[in-house]
Amino acid sequence: MTQFLSKNGFIQYMKKLVLLGGGHSHAEVLRQFAMRPPADTDITVVTRDLLAPYSGMLPGFIAGHYTYADIHIDIRNLAKAAGARIVHSESNGLDTEERMLRCPGRPDIPFDILSINTGSTPALDDAPGADQFAIPAKPVDQFIQKFETLLEDAQGYVASGYPDPDAEQFGSRTAVSVSTKHGADPGRVSSAKPAAICIVGGGAGGIELALTMNHRLTTAGVTDPSITVITDSQTLLPTHNPGVQKRVLKKFQQRNITLITNQSVTHVEKDAVRLSDGTKLPYSKLIWTTHAAAPDWIARTGMETDPDGFILVNDNLQSTSHPNIFAGGDIATMQSTPRPKSGVFAVRQGPYLTDNIRAAAENKPLTKFDPQKQFLSLLGTGDLNAIASKGPWAAQGKWVWDWKNHIDQKFMFMYEMAAMAGMSGGMTPSTNPSQRKRPWSSSSGELQSISGAIAPEMHCGGCGSKIGQSLLEQALAEIDVYENPQIHVGLNHPDDAAVVQYPPNTEIVHTVDHFKSFIDDPYIFGQVTAAHCLSDCYAMGAAPHNALATVTLAHGSDVQQAAILRELLLGANKILRGDRVTLVGGHTAEGQELSFGLTINGTINPQLRTTKTGVQQGDTLILTKPIGTGVLFAADMQKQARTYWLDNAMKQMIKTNKQTVDSLQGIDVSAATDLTGFGIIGHLAEMMAGSNLQARLNINAIPLLDGALECSNNGIASTLYPQNLIAETNIANRSEASKNNKYPLMFDPQTSGGLLIAVPENHAHKVVAETDGAIIGTINSSNNSEKAIRII
Ligand SMILES: Cc1cc2nc3c(=O)[nH]c(=O)nc-3n(C[C@H](O)[C@H](O)[C@H](O)COP(=O)(O)OP(=O)(O)OC[C@H]3O[C@@H](n4cnc5c(N)ncnc54)[C@H](O)[C@@H]3O)c2cc1C
Repeated sequence: MTQFLSKNGFIQYMKKLVLLGGGHSHAEVLRQFAMRPPADTDITVVTRDLLAPYSGMLPGFIAGHYTYADIHIDIRNLAKAAGARIVHSESNGLDTEERMLRCPGRPDIPFDILSINTGSTPALDDAPGADQFAIPAKPVDQFIQKFETLLEDAQGYVASGYPDPDAEQFGSRTAVSVSTKHGADPGRVSSAKPAAICIVGGGAGGIELALTMNHRLTTAGVTDPSITVITDSQTLLPTHNPGVQKRVLKKFQQRNITLITNQSVTHVEKDAVRLSDGTKLPYSKLIWTTHAAAPDWIARTGMETDPDGFILVNDNLQSTSHPNIFAGGDIATMQSTPRPKSGVFAVRQGPYLTDNIRAAAENKPLTKFDPQKQFLSLLGTGDLNAIASKGPWAAQGKWVWDWKNHIDQKFMFMYEMAAMAGMSGGMTPSTNPSQRKRPWSSSSGELQSISGAIAPEMHCGGCGSKIGQSLLEQALAEIDVYENPQIHVGLNHPDDAAVVQYPPNTEIVHTVDHFKSFIDDPYIFGQVTAAHCLSDCYAMGAAPHNALATVTLAHGSDVQQAAILRELLLGANKILRGDRVTLVGGHTAEGQELSFGLTINGTINPQLRTTKTGVQQGDTLILTKPIGTGVLFAADMQKQARTYWLDNAMKQMIKTNKQTVDSLQGIDVSAATDLTGFGIIGHLAEMMAGSNLQARLNINAIPLLDGALECSNNGIASTLYPQNLIAETNIANRSEASKNNKYPLMFDPQTSGGLLIAVPENHAHKVVAETDGAIIGTINSSNNSEKAIRII
């Protein structure tokens, strides 16, 4: 629990709430918190996927009626709308005593209250070999990837001529009985062509997949695709009424889908399954959608679970063993009213989970959730038809599909609207200032420091603005810096300055950079800043040696500041350590918002120093990372950026340019610079200055980050763009070049960009091969009156 001083001088407490998993229940929690957050609560969302698939629309996606975007809830933007920090990570453990969530590869996340909504996966350990050869229907995004490959194979097969010798893969079932089978017929298989797609599991997931895949493959041109559903029950859909079962069976018959009942799969081999009666049934794709299983790590946490390893919760959706832990959706089993694992319950539990988490944070009474016994299921059959099921009632038709489609679209629209508020700091202005303002804050108006809410009005300046000694010690205790015997006095010593012995005959390179936080996650912010700051050193061909950190923490409580400092330094040190750079010291202060910078000191052999200028005629220009970070973060501010664009950009930004410098060993580099705030034209113009040569820049060869062009085409640009446009004066063919829609991106400022290098032509391909870089131009002769850059 974080302690802070309120404006009226009372000690108040800030609770740390962690929402683990961005499933259906937590989507609702975030939507409601965006409208009314719990008081004095710091919220962190930890999720493996930033876009959460909505299971109700998955069958419609498989059938080809919805796009990927249509069926995904944007958890990242919902979290932003709720004023929550998002941590993109997959947790694999929990220390319930210390109240710490474990996420591999990043610091533990402390919590006072934890809510878990991480779903389930089909139980692959039912049959040996299933984990090796079967495609589980969940996690959904992995299933979607495999399904798309399957679809591409099918389309390739259709395109290559039909039928052909590969007909077994998707097709002809001449010898396969089309009637529904109760029990397998051992003799049937030997005379039949192998079943192409086998689906193990006859519940709602299995039958929807069978019907929708059949529809999709048929519309892709596959004649009579071969699909077999295997279930160990007497009938398909055993928990539904006979009217529903009859309708589905009829659909199966109409579509030639084979059903094998009363058989469990006992073994899975590479291309065949063995059934309980001994039958060997060949397959080319095996899909697993049996009963739900819980991840192993839950059992190791010490929380009470049901026999299948799911978290046991009471009627308040509260762990029966750990009252500060809540759980909803598939991962939870209600002790007194267990229900099937289904998205319906995950959705229904959302509002109750919201109320109870809020009540726990505000020390108020909890509310009981009483799940219905009968619930409406609408099963899509792929052909814009659906079957309705509730208790003994069944119905079918296009109107059922229209009804389902209406419900699902309305549901998704609700989350889309809530996520849209992500960039404006919430759906409605919060009455709780501590929720409106986040200590890791960005520079945008709404996302400022927590100071206004919780700090005393006046703060000391000068040396008094330093943060407390114990707080710093606490944060540094976990930093495992790179050990270098040349650091004689460093972080391990109590002294106020670092003492470093540099190797003889080297020059020392010094560089510094500093940023305001532009990412909600201090751990990632620390990594991006470190990668960015190292770049100046790498651009000169120097080896970074040690670093000094300067941190400004937004005013807040000690505990809050310690948590942010810890993550920031752990993130920065991860990158520094990876590149064998020792963090030797730094300075921390308090201010209006979080900012962070690093001074990097490096060494270089004076003979091998590379500078910005020095391009030679005939050189090849190479760029080692795609561009577009400026426009993407501008789009993010305007709520126009897709989550996966930003995620991908972030991965590029935390990559240092060390690999490039390593690959340049032995190459006579003419000139190099790192791409940062001026955009590619600004930096190239600096390289060309005084050379009397001309760079020919192949605009279409410049690698772009996913989404950068789309954002730019939509008229989005960084606030630095107008300033960078001044460098246009260096372009010889400006009016012609500006017709290319990539032209504005030539002025896009970069954070932690790649290196722009000029190397002799004969070395260019080696450099490209070793750096993932791209050849983007050449250095040519010029008559003196020509401008320095020509875009081709
Ligand atoms: C093919 C198929 C069709 C289905 N159709 C329907 C249907 O029409 N209607 C219906 O009601 N149900 C349906 N279901 C069942 C439904 O998918 C699940 O019951 C539902 O998804 C459970 O929701 P949840 O919120 O518990 O978890 P999920 O929807 O699985 O969400 C959990 C989220 O948590 C995140 N996560 C998981 N593990 C971790 C971790 N360790 N750390 C961090 N994050 C993590 C993941 O990113 C994931 O998005 C279907 C299932 C299948 C397989």
